[in-house]
Amino acid sequence: MQELWFDSREVLIGGRWQAAAGGETLPVEDPSTGQETGAIARGGAADIDAAVAAAQAALAGDWGRMTATERGRVLTRLGRLVEERAEALARIEAQDVGKPLTQALADARALARYMEFYGGAADKVMGETIPYQSGYTVYTLREPHGVTGHIVPWNYPMQIIGRSVGAALAMGNACVLKPAEEACLTALAFARLAGEAGLPPGTLNVVPGLGEEAGAALAAHPGVRHLSFTGSVGVGAAVQAAAARNIVPVTLELGGKSPQIVFADADLDDALPFLVNAGVQNAGQTCSAASRILVQREVHDEVLARMAAAYESLRVGPALADLEVGPLISARQKEIVEGFVALADPAHIVARGAIAEGAPGGGHYVAPALLAGLSPDHRLARDEIFGPVQALIPFEDEEEAVAIANGTDYGLVAAIWSRDGARQMRLARRLRAGQVFVNNYGAGGGVELPFGGVGKSGHGREKGFEALYGFSVLKTVAARHG
Ligand code: NAD
Repeated sequence: MQELWFDSREVLIGGRWQAAAGGETLPVEDPSTGQETGAIARGGAADIDAAVAAAQAALAGDWGRMTATERGRVLTRLGRLVEERAEALARIEAQDVGKPLTQALADARALARYMEFYGGAADKVMGETIPYQSGYTVYTLREPHGVTGHIVPWNYPMQIIGRSVGAALAMGNACVLKPAEEACLTALAFARLAGEAGLPPGTLNVVPGLGEEAGAALAAHPGVRHLSFTGSVGVGAAVQAAAARNIVPVTLELGGKSPQIVFADADLDDALPFLVNAGVQNAGQTCSAASRILVQREVHDEVLARMAAAYESLRVGPALADLEVGPLISARQKEIVEGFVALADPAHIVARGAIAEGAPGGGHYVAPALLAGLSPDHRLARDEIFGPVQALIPFEDEEEAVAIANGTDYGLVAAIWSRDGARQMRLARRLRAGQVFVNNYGAGGGVELPFGGVGKSGHGREKGFEALYGFSVLKTVAARHG
């Protein structure tokens, strides 16, 4: 295990690292081995109460008095510290989440980049003056909500903390972060670095714990003025219901069943690595995983054969072995994914990757599975699996491609592979998704690119400049001066 330079059993409240109020801890498990490697605090309602009070105090104190430029400088310094520690953070994340080291390093660098981006943006959010009746000057101000709550999942802790906490801090909010109980070590490491960067005490509070305890307490807390939730549809609905009781806005970043649509005129050599990687990256535990590959009939068999060959060369193993695919996060997640694969008729499973020799028996490994021949209505073609499983679905023409692509409850991202510029433009408009990629998938992560869903993929936008609007409140000032 990467040695930690901090005590993982503590919560951070008001600048003080301390045991959870209840004094209890939860185990940390390494998904690559299934073994217990440490402990985290089991924060609860009392810790959330104290964290919200500490955030309110920060807003009334040093943090609330800082100029936007000063806030930006702290975030920029924090980004530099994250970059300097990127390798250590990546090793922690690899072992905590089970993600291959190279992917974990990309996440650490993305976290640094979020701080750099939002550090630079902090003093560039402007209001406007509005022409109005004579005798008036009218202008708008963008102000922080106040205390913001951030509930984060286990699959990309660093990236999701970066995009939500980074934007919230840039706008002058004070944050209470509830990382996922399955993987929260980098959240704690990040908060230590934030202290080193000069973030005033109470500005960022971190309370690890169970969702139904610390998470539910944060979602329902009347002192929280905005909630950012990333996770499952069911919990997202519960968080939104809790927030509604306090009339608090919520950003929901939920799941997906995202399609890549491959037309017969596409450059298949170019497309192939994107088609496969977007399904197996992070062992498919990615909200924006391309779990459906829609292929025009003329090239269906060729794409199937080439993807099958790619799948057969995929190796699954421990995070530190840095193969293409790591373990799933937990025994439960493995059971869920294997349950999904078991729904397929054996004839539908056209290729599988292999679990590497010597992969520890207790690790949560699942061999990636490529499926074909399913009807678009099959559960495997409609439900989010959250594992390394992709389904190929044939289509005849644009009309059918759009109908299948838009035919699930979700709408997170979509990709079009085609050389036809008019078709690219038509489909980009017709696809029901928060992001559409043309001849690529994911655009390299895109800290700068607004991200979020429609339908059951959620609402609100994070990432990019757009997030700064979500993490602030617009005030209109109408001054009558004659
Ligand atoms: P989850 O909903 O079980 O947990 C997410 C977070 O919510 C965790 O911190 C958990 O402790 C907390 N939580 C659980 N119960 C709670 C409750 N009752 N009240 C408040 N908080 C509670 O999700 P998960 O299984 O950890 O993550 C997988 C899901 O997240 C997938 O559906 C995936 O698509 C989605 N996801 C979406 C995005 C996105 O940006 N759209 C990114 C990553 C993951």
